[in-house]
This record gives sequence, structure tokens and C-alpha cells, in this order.
Amino acid sequence: MRATDATRLYFDAAADQLDLSPSMRELLLTAKREVQVQIPIERDSGELATFIGYRVQHNDARGPFKGGLRYHPQVDLDEVRALAALMTWKTAVVNIPYGGAKGGVAIDPRSCSVRELERVTRRFVDAIHDLFGPDVDIPAPDMGTSADVMAWIMNQYGKYHGFAPACVTGKPVEYHGIPGREEATGRGVGTLTLKLLGRIGRPIPGTRIAIQGFGNVGTHTAKYLHDAECRIVAVGDATAAFHRADGLDVLELLRYAREHDGRLAGFPGGDAITGAELLAAECEVLIPAALGGVITTANAGAVRARLIVEAANAPVEPDADTILAERGITVLPDILANAGGVTASWFEWVQNRQHYQWGINRVRQELDRILSEAFEQVWHLAQSRQVPLRTAAYMVGLGRVARATVLGGLA
Ligand code: NAD
Repeated sequence: MRATDATRLYFDAAADQLDLSPSMRELLLTAKREVQVQIPIERDSGELATFIGYRVQHNDARGPFKGGLRYHPQVDLDEVRALAALMTWKTAVVNIPYGGAKGGVAIDPRSCSVRELERVTRRFVDAIHDLFGPDVDIPAPDMGTSADVMAWIMNQYGKYHGFAPACVTGKPVEYHGIPGREEATGRGVGTLTLKLLGRIGRPIPGTRIAIQGFGNVGTHTAKYLHDAECRIVAVGDATAAFHRADGLDVLELLRYAREHDGRLAGFPGGDAITGAELLAAECEVLIPAALGGVITTANAGAVRARLIVEAANAPVEPDADTILAERGITVLPDILANAGGVTASWFEWVQNRQHYQWGINRVRQELDRILSEAFEQVWHLAQSRQVPLRTAAYMVGLGRVARATVLGGLA
């Protein structure tokens, strides 16, 4: 299923509940602007290479467009379009004053030198600098882009428009970024997992967790839940997966990954399992924190967790979502579960604009408050309307965007 078709299904379920008119649905589904640009650069070898860059600005009814920039060989317009719409609902669910956007460059960052990536980034900014900015559209890191890429974006943007650190978020802490941004998505996943466990009446200590993906989100999620006395029984990445029934040593896993270029292959402290076995691990909570589309009709029947927390974007395919619901497995949807990153991005933007620094404690406190409020709202709506958490989250998001559209006026 195409990415846009999947998000459309979730959109329709919520729009039906809200009784949105066909004309409002059409307006909310259509992107406000879609841009495709050519990015020619000179390789280190002196050869010419041409890449394609995209920026989809989906909706700005509630505030400036906001969304990540992805560098990945399979980036295409359909995927960027679907991810841009997800951002609109995500910023609305957590009620931060942004719309939704996404960008991408079809490039394999691992096949480029750092200097080549810098040239691609600066040429991309040259092509779109009039289309983004602190009050217009604020990019951030996503798959394949780092804080360094955000620093280049800010620097290149400044050459056209002057000093404007709020034109991009996820910057290095030493270059107008904020402490707490990097951990924020994983911390948010952890916070929301604990809230969900609380709501179903499950004691937290000893709760068994399986995590797919041990990058930025997976590592911070594992650390947070380990600190909360959960048992991380299975962890995997692109290179390997490991299981230990009485809990893996998370600090050892983190140390091992740090010392092995971020990879888990060869970790000595657990039994090696396959990626498929990880998704079917005996546990209370399964947290997919790697790729989209990993839980499908083929493996949804094998999931043994009671809860799935979608740390990655769109890890559960819509047909699999139906199977999980029939099996009584609760899914906390991506647009709420991984919203910690964009929420902390908002804090960075606010501080950049105020030329002020909050400090890590205030960042964590505000993050926990905003995510907790959003969770409670979605939980209560799901209970009162007897709908899945995903439909409730979309209802909260769509409702806010539709209301802002009406209040702003269309004339
Ligand atoms: P990352 O690149 O830091 O880590 C990705 C991890 O997934 C790595 O450990 C990698 O080895 C693993 N992986 C890749 N292919 C795999 C496979 N086939 N099987 C198992 N593991 C595999 O990325 P990240 O920033 O941690 O993002 C993870 C997911 O969370 C993505 O879907 C991303 O869109 C989403 N997300 C991230 C943020 C953020 O702030 N970083 C915010 C919202 C959503």
C-alpha cells in the first residue's frame, strides 16, 4: 500500500467520527505546496552528480509548517507527502503551534563524504531558501540527517536572510541547539509507555519490553524504561537482535553500541534471535523504533505483546492494525507516541526566538507535561467514543486543524 493511502485510511476513520464535510476533507488532505528541485554538486572526485530534493508543505492553519528533512535513497514524493500530512496531525495532537511539512533528498548519505553532504545541503538551501524560515517552515533532522546538517542549513540560510537560528531545529547544542532535544523522542516514548501501562493497571517494575531499532529513538527509549525498572527482554537493530528473559543489561548494550559504530552485532550479553523473533517476543510492550511497515498481515498474528508503542513512523500497516485490534492488542499511534521530538524542537525554536536558554530540567519538565496532557485527552476520547487510540489521536488532530481553518477564514 502506498504511504499516502495508509494515512488516508486513518484520516477517514477519524473524519467519519467527526462528521467532517467532503469539502473540508478535501482541503485538509491536499498539500498547500509541493516543491521538487534539482541539486547538482561536484563530487570530491571532480565528477558532477545530480540529486532530487523535495519539500512538501502540507498545512499551516495552526502555525508555520514544521517537519524533518530525510536523506535516503528511496525518498520519493509520495512518501514525503504522507509524512508531511502525519506532521500536521502530530503537531495538532500535542497542541503545539505548528502545521506540518516534510522534506527529503533521494541520496544515500553513507555513499557520500561529509563534504559532499555539506555541498548537497547548501545547494538544497540555495534552491528553497525563499520557501522556509522561522515564521514560514522550519526543517529538522530525520532519517539520514544529523545535527551537523541542521547547522549547515542555518548557516546557508543566514547568507541570504541574516542571523536566524529559529529557521531550523535539531541543531548542535554548541550551535544554537538545546540540551534535551536529542533524547526527546525516546524520552517521550518512554513517558507515554509508562502512562499507558498505568491506564491498563499494569505495575511498571518488571514489565517486559522488546525494542526494534537501537538508534537515536531506540537507545533513549531503552535507557528511560530501564531507569523506570522495566525489563528490556529483546533489542535489535539492522545488524543483529538479542533476547534475555530476565532482562538485557541496557547500560552494557549502550556501551557496546557506542564502541562498535552504533551496531549491536556481536553483543555478548544475550541470546541471538532473528528480527522476526524479536517482533514475536514474549513481552508486555513491543516498541518498533526503526522502520515503517514492519508489522504486516504476515506477522501481526505472531505478535505476543499486549501493547505496541509506535516509536517509528508508520511501523504498523493498516491491515495489520485491524488484525491487532481483533486480537485485543492496543496500539499507541505514531502521531502521539513519537511526538516528543517535534515538541522539543518547538522548545528550541522558542528559545532561539527569545535568545534565552532554559536548561535541561525545564525542557524535560515541559516535555513531560505536554505529552501527558495529550495522552490523557486521547485516552479519554478513545474511552468515551469507544474507538481505538489511533482514531482518537487523529480525531484530536483533525479537529484542531479543521477548527483553525474555519477560524482563520477561507476568503
Ligand atoms: P536512527 O537512524 O538513529 O536508528 C534507526 C535504527 O533502526 C538503527 O539502530 C538501525 O540499525 C535500525 N534498523 C534499520 N533497519 C532495521 C531493520 N531492518 N531491522 C531492525 N532494525 C533496523 O533513527 P531514529 O532517529 O532512531 O529513528 C527511528 C524511527 O523513529 C524512524 O522511523 C524515524 O522516522 C522515527 N522518528 C524519529 C524521531 C527522532 O527524533 N529521531 C522523531 C520521530 C520519529
